[in-house]
Amino acid sequence: MIIAVASGKGGTGKTFVSTNLFWAAQKQGIPSTLVDCDAEEPNDAEFIPGYVLNTQNVVQKIPVIDDQKCTFCGRCFDYCNYNAIVYLPDKRFIKVVEELCHDCGACTVACTSGAISLKEKAIGTIRKMYVGIPSVLVEARTEIGVYSPVPVIKKAIKYASDDVLIILDAPPGISCPFIATVDKADYVVLVTEPTPFGLNDLKLSVDTLDEIGKPYGVVVNRAGLGNSDVYLWLKEKKISLLMEIPFDKEIAMVYSEGKLIAELNSKYSDKFMQLLQSVKKELKR
Ligand code: SF4
Ligand code: SF4
Repeated sequence: MIIAVASGKGGTGKTFVSTNLFWAAQKQGIPSTLVDCDAEEPNDAEFIPGYVLNTQNVVQKIPVIDDQKCTFCGRCFDYCNYNAIVYLPDKRFIKVVEELCHDCGACTVACTSGAISLKEKAIGTIRKMYVGIPSVLVEARTEIGVYSPVPVIKKAIKYASDDVLIILDAPPGISCPFIATVDKADYVVLVTEPTPFGLNDLKLSVDTLDEIGKPYGVVVNRAGLGNSDVYLWLKEKKISLLMEIPFDKEIAMVYSEGKLIAELNSKYSDKFMQLLQSVKKELKR
């Protein structure tokens, strides 16, 4: 079972839910992998320290154009859908803008003059960490300045392929990195908070998931704060409320110390196990 934990914006408690759910599951003896897909700012390892088993580099293939062989026909420029090639035929100038290149390979197919070769560029790393029997944490991390974290996220998810339970801590937002993560999930847990901002971002996430046809349910974090609009909207849309996490000083203190509430308070480890059961039930519906 692959569960993605996501939210339309940062700071709603997505990492809090992912890490505590993972901890509760692995303590029950469920072979679990947590994949930190927030590749631009991964921080799951701060809550779940582990022993690094191995680190893999993620590389992208970047085309290099040889001026001496190039006939300046412009075919590669026409094939490139990402505006990654600067082509000035009058000045006989052509260059690949590495930061915009998506490694699609179209220009290499277009070029029949043998003017394009490929070089490798490091765009990130995947760290696999042993957390304890039977659990693993996989961390995706992009290099600073990389245009898109998607290739690194995809590789990290692939790396975690065969555990009983895989939890994907999704990147914030609803753009390509979010879609690359939830696309691999059987079910998406959307974390929100009962505020106007929380509701607005929840609606955007729900629209996106409806469009790609993924089942989902909602966890309301910091319940008791804000108003009841989120609950009314969930009821109106018949969206499952999977769990509420109260606005609780103890949780905030434990989190700020880089610890897990599920580890320190059995009431919460039970709650997170119930969340797992609720997701299982939802998938059987
Ligand atoms: S590999 Fe794709 S994105 Fe990169 S320069 Fe070539 S056509 Fe453009
Ligand atoms: S397709 Fe090849 S020959 Fe034509 S402009 Fe591009 S690199 Fe040069």
